[in-house]
Amino acid sequence: MLSTAPDRARAAQRVEEAFAQSFGYSPDGVWSAPGRVNIIGEHVDYQDGLCLPMAISHRCFAAAARTPTDRVRLRSLQSDVELDIDAGELAPGAVEGWPAYVAGVLWALRSFISGSATQGMDVLIDGHVPLGSGLSSSAALECATAEAIESLLSLGTTPLERVKAAITAETEFAGASTGGLDQSASVLSRAGHALFLDCRAFSTRPVPWDLGSQGLALLITDTRAEHSHVDGEYVARRADSERAAELIGVPTLREVPFEQLEEALGRIEDDTVRRRARHVITEIRRVKEFDGLLSSGSVRDHLAELGDLLNASHDSLRDDYEVTVPALDVAVDAARAAGAHGARMTGGGFGGSTIALVEAEQAEAVAGAIAHAFRQQSLGEPVFFLALPSEGAGQDR
Ligand code: ADP
Ligand code: MG
Repeated sequence: MLSTAPDRARAAQRVEEAFAQSFGYSPDGVWSAPGRVNIIGEHVDYQDGLCLPMAISHRCFAAAARTPTDRVRLRSLQSDVELDIDAGELAPGAVEGWPAYVAGVLWALRSFISGSATQGMDVLIDGHVPLGSGLSSSAALECATAEAIESLLSLGTTPLERVKAAITAETEFAGASTGGLDQSASVLSRAGHALFLDCRAFSTRPVPWDLGSQGLALLITDTRAEHSHVDGEYVARRADSERAAELIGVPTLREVPFEQLEEALGRIEDDTVRRRARHVITEIRRVKEFDGLLSSGSVRDHLAELGDLLNASHDSLRDDYEVTVPALDVAVDAARAAGAHGARMTGGGFGGSTIALVEAEQAEAVAGAIAHAFRQQSLGEPVFFLALPSEGAGQDR
């Protein structure tokens, strides 16, 4: 019932073989990048807040080879759509479907490529991050590509420059919207660590979060629930937060010290806007507390407090920010009742996934309890993934 990621070395070997079968020769190398999940710090990025994502065990692999032309050929084991295009023709809007995420990275890195160099390459993708589950298969795809291009063309880019190229590929080239948390986590994460991300400074640092060595794991439940007005709701929440900041008299809610919470909320008459502000300000505080606990001892030392913070985050998203749906609440309640140390929705809400911090040996039982609760409530069948904090993008072969 639990989907665990395939062994990394074996998966890398498989994509190398698939490349040879597809293109008829061996690739120059294999690169990969992970999907991500946000541990805590939800709906605060657009108010300059703090988030704590981690890379998950599921990765996207890219086998690639440089060719002596300017021809770019892209294939994926997850799609029948292929791309065969001249690098000079790459421009926003010129490529449709999944190849836009890959071609967009090459386009975004163009200023690092010397004018006389050929840009031709063959790329075969094999992704194990489930598509569209909110685990950021798109960032994994872009970031694996950025690693491959960096190596193939010897660009000398920094990891942060590759993060930015991946973001540019998604926003400007593929025309999708992304805040940058996904790409930062996919490139900059370290095994056994979470990534503390300050959205105001756009700075990051690793925080110890070594679940594996302590017999813990993160159980991810993709509820499969979908909501039809997600985009509209998202815009409305952003607008509420902006309105709240305006009424309090600060550029963003990040500027409100937690100690002045009550005084700041007192300046907002509208009950809904006040609750939105309370979520953002208290959520930023929870990330600080979570970070403080992880920086001052092992996860196991602070299990109860960390679990409480996860639970409080969910409750705030449910009651104050109102972005949960029944499937998210059912998954979280069932996980807590089955012995998870803490559980919350993760991502934008209105469907999508939940996380539960569990004893590794209890993961299967907690998943079973969630599945049982879903059946009782006549909800669709959820999908489960087991994740450990993993290494960011890099070369495999
Ligand atoms: P998420 O990033 O949460 O998984 P998105 O909608 O942002 O969801 O990205 C999913 C899209 O990324 C897919 O529709 C597809 O275009 C592309 N994609 C991701 N992984 C692959 C893959 N292995 N092969 C082909 N396309 C992929
Ligand atoms: Mg995505």
